[in-house]
Parts: sequence; C-alpha cells; structure tokens
Amino acid sequence: MNLRALQRDFQSLYGRPAAGAVRAPGRVNLIGEHTDYNDGFVLPIAISRQTLAAYARRDDRIVHFASKQAESQIVPVDLAAPIARAEPTWANYCRGVAAGLLAAGVELTGADVLFDSDVPLGGGLSSSAALEVATALVLLEAAGARGAVAAADLARLCQKAEHDFAGAPCGIMDQSIAIMGQAGRAMLLDCRGNEVRHVPFDDPDGVLLVADTQVRHAISGGAYALRRQQCHADAAALGAKALREVDLPAVQAALAEGKLDAPQFKRARHVAGEIARTLQAVQVLGEGDHKRFGQLMTASHVSLRDDYEVSCEELDAIVDAALPVPGVHGARMTGGGFGGCAIILAHVSQAERITRIIQEAFAARFGRRCPIFATPATAGAGPLAME
Ligand code: ADP
Ligand code: MG
Repeated sequence: MNLRALQRDFQSLYGRPAAGAVRAPGRVNLIGEHTDYNDGFVLPIAISRQTLAAYARRDDRIVHFASKQAESQIVPVDLAAPIARAEPTWANYCRGVAAGLLAAGVELTGADVLFDSDVPLGGGLSSSAALEVATALVLLEAAGARGAVAAADLARLCQKAEHDFAGAPCGIMDQSIAIMGQAGRAMLLDCRGNEVRHVPFDDPDGVLLVADTQVRHAISGGAYALRRQQCHADAAALGAKALREVDLPAVQAALAEGKLDAPQFKRARHVAGEIARTLQAVQVLGEGDHKRFGQLMTASHVSLRDDYEVSCEELDAIVDAALPVPGVHGARMTGGGFGGCAIILAHVSQAERITRIIQEAFAARFGRRCPIFATPATAGAGPLAME
C-alpha cells in the first residue's frame, strides 16, 4: 500500500485526480488491558500500519465513500438529509463521523473519498478507529476546516460514531491514540478524565514485534459485555464507583470478608493489578529499564490469561514460544482478547530469530502462518503531502 497507488486508483475510480490525502494509524496497547471501562490507565502507541484516504472536494453536498478493502464500491452519503445506519455496514463508521461533524456545527462539503489500509480488519489493531479518524480528517480537509474540532473532541466524536453507528461499545483509547500519538512516544491515557501524557518509547536497542493470530474476535460479542458487567458488579460490591478506586490489598480484603466470591475476585484482581502495572510500566520506561518493562508486559499476559480469562490458545502459544528466546524482554496479548494480536518486546539484534521461532512454533501447532511485523511508535493522524 502506498499513496501513489492510491492516487492512481482514485483517478480511475472517480475520473479525476485526488486533491489531497490524509493518514490515520492503527495502534497497539503496550499495557493496561481491560482497564479503560474501569476508569483506569492504558498505554498505547500508534503503529506503522495505517489507513490512507485520498479525496477531492465536490460542489454538492454528497460524499462518496469507497474503500479498497470493500471492492472500491462507491457509497453515497447525502449531507443534506438525516444520516442513519445502512448497508454496506463498513460505511457506518464513515456515516457516524459525518453525522458527528455536522452535529458539532462543522460546515461540511461534498467530497469523493477513497480509503486504503494495511491495518488488518478486525485484527485488534484498531482499523475501525483508523477508518473513523481518516474519515474525520478527510471531511475536515475537503471543507477547508482543518483544526475546526479540537483533538480530544474529535476523539470523542469518532468514539460516538462507533457506539451509535457500528454498535460497538468501545472506550476512548483507539481514537485518542490515532489522533494524538507522537513518534517515539507511548501515550499514557487516564480513562477517568481522559488526560494524556506522552512518555518516550524509543529505545534504539529495542524492537516491538506484533504477531497476528488471524483469529478474528467480535468486540461487540458477549464475552466483552460480560466482563464489563462483572467489573461494575465488583465495584458496586466494594462500594466503589469504579475498580480504579480499589487497590490490590482492598481486593484481597474483600475476598476474605466475603464481599467478593472467587470468580469475582479474579476479575477484580486483574483490573487492580493491571492498573498498578501500567503506572509502574510508565515509571520504568522513564528510567530506561526495558527489561523490567517487558516483565510487566508478561505479568499482564498471565493475569489476562488466568484471572481475566480473555486469552486464547493462539495468543498463549505466541507468548510461550517467545518468552524463552534470548533477547526477549516480555510478551503479551494486546487488545480485547480471544484472538487478534500479541506483542513482543525484544532486543533489536534478535528480531529475525524471534520471528522465525514464533512462526515455526505457530505453524507446527496450528498448521498456518502467523504474520509478524516490527513497529516503532509513530505519529498520530494528519494530512499527507501529495506526490
Ligand atoms: P479492529 O478495529 O480491531 O480492526 P473492528 O471490528 O473494530 O476491528 O473493526 C473492523 C471493521 O471496520 C471492519 O469489519 C470494517 O467494517 C471496518 N473497516 C476498518 N477499516 C476499513 C477499511 N479500510 N475499509 C473498509 N472497512 C473498514
Ligand atoms: Mg475496532
């Protein structure tokens, strides 16, 4: 995937050249999993996989959305009429964003838009947020309204589009990192007040590998909703508004006092432990201690696997294959779980060897490929210079 090819495809689809283009990255969460809906902390980076959108303004109020991941079929959306969910469903992310921008008072114009992406769809690297954010930027650019919506508001608007138009009850992390990510930095996001703090993640000796199980999860599915409910029930049993307010000793005490039963206790222990690990991870990053950072990642995986029970065989197999390899600092599943991707933090000199060992172990066990790529922390979404 590259911009020049997208420009060529735009020309053949719409019969005129693209006037501009934007990019919006996918993301991985380094640590802080299933903490967002507990008012906790997450620590994502924007990655090198991204969604591009080329556009040209139209003189009417019709937006044509098309995606190379959806056979470049043109989907018209009339900005002058009420915008509602419709077929094809992939375009609902775009409809939701257009509706949100109009509701925010932005004077949008018509546009022809073509997307292309190398973020795997449904792979847990947040192709959905990349699509929403690319849509928002492209509509703002076409309308000559760059910067009309502040970054934090834009993230909320894209999140709302996913809630209302795609029916996915996602947190604010994916949209925030896609918009506010910085090159060479991870972003600590406090999901209570949505404050962000950027922390260096640019060890020249380190490499972050992303391994895709290619097992596709459905985040709107039952297990995710059930975990959310269990957390809210746990918080209520502990007299807290959210599990964020509860630390590990308090969770232990609640078990001893019979306020939590054993299964409830495991869920609460994951959340309280994960929030503590995430804050510790930021501290050790500040000290440049990547080995310790890796150990915290691994502890996060063990907790997600055993206490929160959201891992799966394929994710565990990747982590188990990676951990014994010299030069691996840590490994964990990332994202909601039940499939998607695992991440491995390692010494850069070992990247190829680690990749080979994981892929061999994965193929031997599951009889298929496990794509792996390395990524730095990249910048958040923005306009691209045309070639
Ligand atoms: P994830 O965000 O982990 O990739 P989701 O299930 O949240 O998984 O979002 C995936 C959905 O987003 C796809 O099924 C598709 O509807 C939509 N989508 C994302 N990127 C694109 C794209 N480039 N073209 C068309 N649809 C896309
Ligand atoms: Mg998504």
